[in-house]
Amino acid sequence: MSQFSLTLLRRSSIGEINHQVLLKLRIICIRDMNESEDLEEKKLLGSGGYALAKITEQEEIKANLGIPQIFLANLGRLSEDRFLKYYCNVCGKEFSGSPLLKYETLNEELGQGVILVEKGEYKCKNCDNVIAFYRKFNK
Ligand SMILES: [Zn+2]
Repeated sequence: MSQFSLTLLRRSSIGEINHQVLLKLRIICIRDMNESEDLEEKKLLGSGGYALAKITEQEEIKANLGIPQIFLANLGRLSEDRFLKYYCNVCGKEFSGSPLLKYETLNEELGQGVILVEKGEYKCKNCDNVIAFYRKFNK
């Protein structure tokens, strides 16, 4: 192989890599854009109150069990910045921001291949009342 073709080969493989990286970056950018675009404010029901949070359409589909209400319990863990406010049944009023989220990673084998991955509780910051709790399984 001549020096020239070797240089050409090297240059083209670098070009290839750059192209792939750029393509990946572009895909990530598009995905991020879509996620922020799709966020919609929804009322999420819990056993001890409700929350108003921004969720994606995919999350809504996942949490909606064929009825108009969306249950916080079906959404699992959401980051705090998604919450606008919540209502506590015990306090009888709304609070701005997110309820307190306490969760544990368990990875507990329940048999027949079912694993309890995580359990968590959304609690009122004012009175400790559980707004909603969730369980996340591997399937
Ligand atoms: Zn409360």
